[in-house]
Amino acid sequence: MYSLGSGSSGNAFLVRTARTTLLIDCGVAARACTAALKELTPDCRVDAILISHEHVDHVRALIPVLRRTECNVVTTRGTRAQLRLDCGYTEVVSGGRFTSGDIDVTFIGVAHDAAEPCGFILESAGTTAAIFTDLGHVSAAVLDALRAADIIVLESNYDTGMLRRGRYPQHLKRRITGSHGHLSNDDCASALAATAGRASAIWLAHLSENNNLPEIAQEAVGTALRVNGLSTPATPLPRFARQDLNQPPAIVSQGRLVF
Ligand SMILES: [Zn+2]
Ligand SMILES: [Zn+2]
Repeated sequence: MYSLGSGSSGNAFLVRTARTTLLIDCGVAARACTAALKELTPDCRVDAILISHEHVDHVRALIPVLRRTECNVVTTRGTRAQLRLDCGYTEVVSGGRFTSGDIDVTFIGVAHDAAEPCGFILESAGTTAAIFTDLGHVSAAVLDALRAADIIVLESNYDTGMLRRGRYPQHLKRRITGSHGHLSNDDCASALAATAGRASAIWLAHLSENNNLPEIAQEAVGTALRVNGLSTPATPLPRFARQDLNQPPAIVSQGRLVF
């Protein structure tokens, strides 16, 4: 599994086994996606693109990548309606499953201010990954998914103090901290402390460019894990910054972590 970029400006993961390549979200620059596919896949082949929700930081490059790969889009009906895709797609409901080659994917609905947002459980060859990047609170279904995962990718969006002191308008602060907004470092830390006993690796995802720092997120999560007797390494994913949209992509090697 590779991160091609993470954060408020762009998100995408590439998951590859010997038989199957999936893109999960497509929110970084199109040329970053293309460069990653060239580097990481034998023939730029993608079997399917899974879309978590319609916000631009998750779908920015979807159309150009679809043009290039002509692969299947898999998402919920609500997300598809917002995207107004005129191509074929596979509809999955929350709790529903989708299989591509040797990867089984379960969609799990999350609380976020989008039409029908989801996170994902991926299973392949006995390994389970849970990927949840935009959610205002951690539901029982998400907790169950984290508990069963060998690899966890969970949002650690903002530090509460930085957001409170920062320059965002009040309505935006309320949106971010609301039950359908984003997870704070503390929200992320307490969810992981309660669930990460099985996990061998944790990625902290979707860190805010303005209201978080990797070392603060890592410290919050590391402390909560240690207090609960866990020593699983938690790695903040490199942030995809707004200016990276116009830069040549140097994203893959930064974000790459091989399990
Ligand atoms: Zn979102
Ligand atoms: Zn997002």
